[in-house]
Amino acid sequence: MSRAPATDRFAFVREELDRLRGAGLYNEVPSLQGPQGPWIVIRGKRVLNMCSNNYLGLANDPRLVAAAKDAIDRYGVGPGAVRSIAGTMDVHEELERKLAEFKETEAALSLQSGFLANQATVPNVALSGEDAVFTDELNHASIIDAVRLTKSQRYIYRHNDMDDLSEKLHECRAARHKLVITDGVFSMDGDIAPLDRIVVLAEEHGAMTMVDDAHGEGVLGRHGRGIVNHFGLEGRVDFEIGTLSKAFGVVGGFISGRREVVDYLRQKARPFLFSSALTPADVAAAIAAVDILRESGALVERLWSNANRFKQEMNDLGFDTGVTETPITPVMLGEAPLAQTFSSKLFERGVFAKSIGFPTVPRGKARIRVMNTAAHSEADLQFALDAFAAVGRELGVVS
Ligand code: PMP
Repeated sequence: MSRAPATDRFAFVREELDRLRGAGLYNEVPSLQGPQGPWIVIRGKRVLNMCSNNYLGLANDPRLVAAAKDAIDRYGVGPGAVRSIAGTMDVHEELERKLAEFKETEAALSLQSGFLANQATVPNVALSGEDAVFTDELNHASIIDAVRLTKSQRYIYRHNDMDDLSEKLHECRAARHKLVITDGVFSMDGDIAPLDRIVVLAEEHGAMTMVDDAHGEGVLGRHGRGIVNHFGLEGRVDFEIGTLSKAFGVVGGFISGRREVVDYLRQKARPFLFSSALTPADVAAAIAAVDILRESGALVERLWSNANRFKQEMNDLGFDTGVTETPITPVMLGEAPLAQTFSSKLFERGVFAKSIGFPTVPRGKARIRVMNTAAHSEADLQFALDAFAAVGRELGVVS
């Protein structure tokens, strides 16, 4: 008996992969043969790394490495289970105390990632259709997903547009809990949210505020305390979401704020209640990073001086670096295939800077996002600038 031809259940997968390849949007994930640092090895080639979020060069810092090794000797490698079930290790509590102190908040709760810290917060504040969230149209994917987890009313306001936010808050003034959510530094463009104005509007409307400070910590404010310190808004932002994976150089996320709010999320947040904690090695390395930042602002200053030089010289060369106000430097190229070709040619010249296209950024706004770090030397920056200039001229992007 002959069998009926199997229906091709995965045709949609192949079609989508073909479409992505055809549109120049297929994402090849390069494999790094060694640690993150200013120079890395990819496919056996040593290249200058211009696209990590390792803002302060801490990902391979010997002090963090030593702290992680010591923690493994003292605590082993795994946390055992979720903290509410297997008990919390004291290192996690030490990290939370230090993060709260660093962020100048009453308390902090650590989680496995910044992505999950957003998911831990939004659905526990905006609970039902009686509540409303107000979210910037360019907020990070993890905020978008967190908002999708709520059953509350959702208002997407135009990017950094306070008139639009004000109108929407007014329209929805009868809502019970109101939560305004913004990225602190927008990760693809490098511009800073007008958090001072957002807080004033939220206060006028009795709304709560939440900021995702993933690209602000270690970058903005005194010794890199972040956007709240940058604007002098201590005590006026209700939920500060952080990541330990960027400037702090490790992995993990956290929420900081009032003690009762953190207590509440410890009871309610599903990533805390249903997923195991960070490993002791991650936690100890993150503590070492916080200690370094508490003691000195030198790395943050170096980050800014590198970023300012790089941005200035790129603009002098004729590149469009968009609206950045921070070390994030988008090199705007337009169509995704051009950005991909540009990135490949940079690689041939020894510079690793990946192209970013839809859906990470809007269609027609493909770019290479350069991330400056404190770990780059003057010579490294010159090497990158020379490569950008040569490829830019070859492809007719600059003259
Ligand atoms: N928020 C923003 C604004 C981010 O850029 C990122 C990381 N790309 C995250 C949250 C997620 O952080 P993590 O890597 O710790 O999950």
